[in-house]
Amino acid sequence: MKQNLHTHTVYCDGNDTPEEMVQTAIAKKFDILGFSGHGHVDYDDYAMSLEDTEKYIREVNALKEKYRDQIQIHLGTEVDVLYRIPDKTPYDYMIGSVHCIEKDNTVFPVDYSKEVFEKYLQEWYNNDFIQLAEDYCAYYHTLKTWEEIDIIGHIDLITKYNEDESYIRFEDPSYVKIMTDAVDDLGNDRIFEVNTGAIARGTRRTPYPWFNLLCYMKEKGARIMLNSDCHSRDYLDCCYRESLEMIRKAGFTSMAVLTDNGFADMDIDQFTE
Ligand SMILES: [Zn+2]
Ligand SMILES: [Zn+2]
Repeated sequence: MKQNLHTHTVYCDGNDTPEEMVQTAIAKKFDILGFSGHGHVDYDDYAMSLEDTEKYIREVNALKEKYRDQIQIHLGTEVDVLYRIPDKTPYDYMIGSVHCIEKDNTVFPVDYSKEVFEKYLQEWYNNDFIQLAEDYCAYYHTLKTWEEIDIIGHIDLITKYNEDESYIRFEDPSYVKIMTDAVDDLGNDRIFEVNTGAIARGTRRTPYPWFNLLCYMKEKGARIMLNSDCHSRDYLDCCYRESLEMIRKAGFTSMAVLTDNGFADMDIDQFTE
């Protein structure tokens, strides 16, 4: 089994067309490919316009049919907590993610660049990363009430620029508490992703979440899946080998897959890199 349910295309901020992604997935021997175009937001243009959303839905559905014998394709969307999508009807699944913190009608995108991250960390938080983490995770607690969300996206995206722990030690007790509270709140009924997106972008060497939080997820009986948050087809299975190793090491014996009948759990030994 080889799966990725976190895929972006030219319809939002990705580099490739949906069909290019499908062909790459087939070449890389994926069994399941899910598209997760950024759901429309009204504060930025990285996401799909309302008009493009319609086209995206039609195109992915057409590809599902066209490649039915070669790969299982799912139509999803990555919903940002600042803009709830009212109708799940067209979609097979939804990823719920937090990309920004909003205050006084100003939006701070936490993953845009190191410079932007540092600017807001300084101006809004006086360099107190813990305060920032609290504000960020409060949004994940909000997602708890959004029943349409199946997968929790990159729960610690705020550490995109923290590989060297220059902003926070991953094991700082205050930080661990904030993150484990979020896992406690969401872990019973949602699927967390192990997300390799920042590795492809060169800012991290390890996936989200960091290893000890992944171990905590395991301890709490949470479900997980592996996704590449792919914006460029060459990275469709970025670091799958290393991530699978990390997932096994954390003690997981299964991961979630999306079938035509919804999410199911599959033995970890079935997964390939
Ligand atoms: Zn995202
Ligand atoms: Zn994404």
